[in-house]
Amino acid sequence: MPKHIFVTGGVASSLGKGLTASSLGRLLKLRGLRVTLQKLDPYINVDPGTMNPYEHGEVFVTDDGGETDLDLGHYERFIDENLTRDSNATTGSIYQSVLAAERRGDYLGKTVQVIPHITDEIKRRIHRVATDDVDVVITEVGGTVGDIEILPFLEAIRQFRKDAGRDNVAYIHVTLVPFIGPSSEQKTKPTQHSVTELRSRGIQPDLIVCRSEAPINEDLKNKISNLCDVPDNAVINAADARNIYELPLILHDEGLDTVALDVLRMEGHDIDLTYWQQLVDRVEASTLPVRIGLIGKYVQLPDAYLSVVEALKHAGFHHGARVEIDWIQAEDVEGLLASDRLRHLDAIVIPGGFGSRGFEGKIAAARFAREEGVPCLGLCLGLHAMTSEFARNVLGLPGASSSEMDPSTKYPVIDLMHDQRDITDMGGTMRLGAYYAVLEPGSKVATAYGEPVVSERHRHRYEFNPKFRTRFEEAGLLCSGTSPDKRLVEFIELTDHPYWVATQAHPEFKSRPDRAHPLFRDLVGAALAHRDATPPGLRRMLDEAATEAADAPRSVVAEAAATSDAASGNPGAGDGSP
Ligand code: GLN
Repeated sequence: MPKHIFVTGGVASSLGKGLTASSLGRLLKLRGLRVTLQKLDPYINVDPGTMNPYEHGEVFVTDDGGETDLDLGHYERFIDENLTRDSNATTGSIYQSVLAAERRGDYLGKTVQVIPHITDEIKRRIHRVATDDVDVVITEVGGTVGDIEILPFLEAIRQFRKDAGRDNVAYIHVTLVPFIGPSSEQKTKPTQHSVTELRSRGIQPDLIVCRSEAPINEDLKNKISNLCDVPDNAVINAADARNIYELPLILHDEGLDTVALDVLRMEGHDIDLTYWQQLVDRVEASTLPVRIGLIGKYVQLPDAYLSVVEALKHAGFHHGARVEIDWIQAEDVEGLLASDRLRHLDAIVIPGGFGSRGFEGKIAAARFAREEGVPCLGLCLGLHAMTSEFARNVLGLPGASSSEMDPSTKYPVIDLMHDQRDITDMGGTMRLGAYYAVLEPGSKVATAYGEPVVSERHRHRYEFNPKFRTRFEEAGLLCSGTSPDKRLVEFIELTDHPYWVATQAHPEFKSRPDRAHPLFRDLVGAALAHRDATPPGLRRMLDEAATEAADAPRSVVAEAAATSDAASGNPGAGDGSP
């Protein structure tokens, strides 16, 4: 039977519970253990798929088509295992199961209650991922102790130790030790309060992970140990790291995995850190600057593009390059302004998204990249923008667009492939999860992947319209990857351009820090070549222009858009972001 580690958080949200859980997962894996991770989210949405990225950040898609919390992306990147939709459960999905059972009459006329019915369902979700092929299940509980919504989860994990046996369960509580400026002191009080709150729910943590800006000293650790009743060595300090991939090493030095295994009576699994240390060395040696513009519509919240950013960084690690991202609000790129805003970039990424806001800016960026020979990678909606641009300016089809953006366009070069008009439930109505594609031998994508058949994850409703395919190909746009039945175009590229590639999929979800995704790897490779080809004098001017652009006040349009996106709910885009 697998052992269980539960990770809760206190004091403040966004403390990096997910990264702590992920790092611990990696450390246990480096000890030869088989590990899986899971996130329990106390919010009531059935999954984050219908949530606005400004609310929740990126929606991470699993192979089996689960629309899940972005922490699952960290889990996959750190433990290098593909997870499933079962690795994320929300209050909404738990109630949905319980209510369906109630309607079927499964409760035989009993009163259905939070305890035991909801808590039992939570425990069932935890058991579901505790299969025979894992040794340790790490379950992160979203939110912070003290939240009303978290109570059933705390009760369920409290009961879990009673059910599974003391030595089979460990509790880790992640808190904040803030630095109070005027008194120049790090404060333990919030940690004490948070642990008191957790205890009032019947959970005594076995380990406390203290997040802090600067390292905390032994005296402070002793104080926390005494007041929170955990052994000295179970107070783990996670001071701010230079990069997230360094965290497993820091936490190991602090004893996190050693103490956790002690609690679980799992001593005797030696660790070999060589592989991870080499990765961190590579990350630190990645200093060659390369500037990549990300043309998005949710750029105020970089978490909305978390996996894209990580994939770009991984590609940088591969080349020894430090990727600097220029967050470009798509609306700022429209029309004649495009060249001014983009001139200093070494490469461009046009990421996914929903709804028409900013689409014209993405088209302008696609045009600039194509005409100026700037490396460009389009992801999902990015493919839609690059296809529409090519149709308008090369094929000469005025107003060509995606029917998502312009339902009355004469040239719907991107269109719905299935009739979705009758759909009223906005959850899960997209092409979701992993699909195979067959690549055109000799194409850029086939060379990048080095394989003839690849699998990537999808999340979209609209597709390349095959009715226009011949016209595109005659004009030099290569459909370099299609679905195995050849009906759907999955990859496009230009042969006579250094790197102008787009995919209908979201390859960013499969990139790993030690195995950069081939499309991102080659984008950054092309970006470095583009940079090298720029004469030094011009490069200096462009660098100065870039600094000015970075210092420029934030776009007013973008601020207004952020507010209206957040307020406008979900009128049908599928992610609540018109
Ligand atoms: N909005 C587009 C669609 O639904 C693209 C989605 C995406 O970029 N993930 O097809």
